[in-house]
Amino acid sequence: MTKKEIAALAEKELMKLYPEAACTLDYTKPYELMFAARLAAQCTDARVNIVTKALFKKYPDLRSFAEADLAELEQDVKPCGFYRNKAKSLKEMAGQLINDFGGEVPDTMEELLTLSGIGRKTANLMLGDVFGKPAVVTDTHCIRITGRLGLTKNKEPAKVEKDLVKLLPPESSSDFCHRTVEFGRDICTARKPKCEKCPLSYFCKYYAEQISATEKKK
Ligand code: SF4
Repeated sequence: MTKKEIAALAEKELMKLYPEAACTLDYTKPYELMFAARLAAQCTDARVNIVTKALFKKYPDLRSFAEADLAELEQDVKPCGFYRNKAKSLKEMAGQLINDFGGEVPDTMEELLTLSGIGRKTANLMLGDVFGKPAVVTDTHCIRITGRLGLTKNKEPAKVEKDLVKLLPPESSSDFCHRTVEFGRDICTARKPKCEKCPLSYFCKYYAEQISATEKKK
């Protein structure tokens, strides 16, 4: 089976499992998704959602973030960890959006990457979820699962992204990545993946290797 065929099968099975898959960060405005994604680095989406519920009420627009007292903002985002860097990013990003982009989130990878604390992962999230553009969000679940399926040998997010761009249809690549997140939490977990009940096992490279290793031991 070619990698493209495996990717197509994975997409089909994941779509059946998670027809509604979407980003699990709460937001109502485009920049709020970007801020939430920045806070989600090394933190769970559930915790970020608790923090942003109060945060977006306290700072209702970009101006209030740009003019926020940094020490106070740090305390506001502290539960998300790495709070000094994250607060600094949010304040700087708000200023950049106001000064460089007329208060709007830009819709190109190049421009998004000029924003404080924004890497390709968040930039891709914005392109896919807000602007409906082709995007591959290589988070830890996506990297692990596509590796196990044999779609990539790489572990580095930018390299995995490059590999997946060649294999996934552009119109559905963003949804595919959201589905891998749910799948990675439910079934293809980092430790002890539930291969026995996995509908992807019939074409999974990792599973085939496990079976063959068990057979050899017999
Ligand atoms: Fe993950 Fe196992 Fe399913 Fe392969 S068979 S995708 S390793 S849960």
